[in-house]
Amino acid sequence: MEVPPPLVLKRSLFVPSKTLMGPGPSNCSQRVLEAMSNPVLGHMHPECLQIMDEVKEGIKYIFQTLNDATMCISGAGHSGMEAALCNLIEDNDVVLLGISGMWGHRAADMARRYGADVRYVEASFGRALTLEEIRFAFDTHKPRVFFVAQGDSSTGILQRHISEIGDLCRQHDCYLVVDVVASLGGTHFLMDEWKVDVAYTGSQKALGGPAGLTPISFSKRALTHIKQRKTKPKVYYFDVLLIGQYWGCYGTPRIYHHTISSTLLYGLREALAHFCAMGLKNVVQRHLECSVRLQLGIEELGLEMFVQHEPDRLPTVNAVKVPFGIDWRKVADYAMRKYNLEISGGLGPTVEHVFRIGLLGENATLEKVDMVLSILNEAIQSIKLRAI
Ligand code: PMP
Repeated sequence: MEVPPPLVLKRSLFVPSKTLMGPGPSNCSQRVLEAMSNPVLGHMHPECLQIMDEVKEGIKYIFQTLNDATMCISGAGHSGMEAALCNLIEDNDVVLLGISGMWGHRAADMARRYGADVRYVEASFGRALTLEEIRFAFDTHKPRVFFVAQGDSSTGILQRHISEIGDLCRQHDCYLVVDVVASLGGTHFLMDEWKVDVAYTGSQKALGGPAGLTPISFSKRALTHIKQRKTKPKVYYFDVLLIGQYWGCYGTPRIYHHTISSTLLYGLREALAHFCAMGLKNVVQRHLECSVRLQLGIEELGLEMFVQHEPDRLPTVNAVKVPFGIDWRKVADYAMRKYNLEISGGLGPTVEHVFRIGLLGENATLEKVDMVLSILNEAIQSIKLRAI
């Protein structure tokens, strides 16, 4: 039997233009899109390695770190989570997961696969963890690794006090992993000052790059620990000692570890260049102002934020309660059908309960905030009318 070429691939590619205001990805700027149409380079070509070096400098700036072991994992945000845990965890290590939504559970699933003895510290529903809760969990579990998401995009919760958590980890000889996939650029993050051992972020969120390359950085302390492991990290592809050699992090000759996507690299380089030109503090300020305006608008529409305690609200991914009797899917469908606007539903513990409105990168502007508020209101009113 011969399998014929599929008819669908005879049609031309069609990609609609949408405004992406869910939890990510966000829209890429024209600059980023154009960069990605440059010619492909070989993964060991000097020009490609040069761009990798430039990307590395950009990541150091956005993380505020001087760590040598700063690079990208070729993969989406999940690959950063995998790499962080895969390199730090050895069999039977106690790994404590901070839970304020779905992402701590996702990390727990991975940690277990790497042989960890997994423990949890869970925030009360709709709240961030308190330092007291974390301190108590450290005393109880004596973890080797502590994981927390600075921004949990499933609930719209911002975990503050990362600096104090960093101190706590040092006191307990524990390694601190912070997921800043959804938060970086929308809230302050100082990797070195806060004594974070591993951080990774999403390229497709506030950075406004393409998905597929995940910026990650390991502290000297974490790297020393990894070098002293009794066994190699369980996944070759995530071995940071090897990937770091490809990225030229350790002053040793570059090795071929895998074939990086040069086109994604151009996109990420330009997203970082734009971000750096605007300045970290200005980017954070803009995301904050947009979120404040959104929250006010939500109240004015008679709607309610999911996170009650204002300081616990993540500015980048805003969770809004779905009004009683309204099907969130119909609202999201309306916005997409009429305006090509993506508003997302909940995830994990917030499924069916919230809309998630992303104010990320290109879409973190006051005009876009007003637009999303107006469309959200129109969509809800229209669904209500249809229900009568
Ligand atoms: N962590 C957090 C906090 C996220 O919000 C996401 C993506 N929504 C991820 C990890 C995983 O990223 P990706 O979908 O790019 O794999």
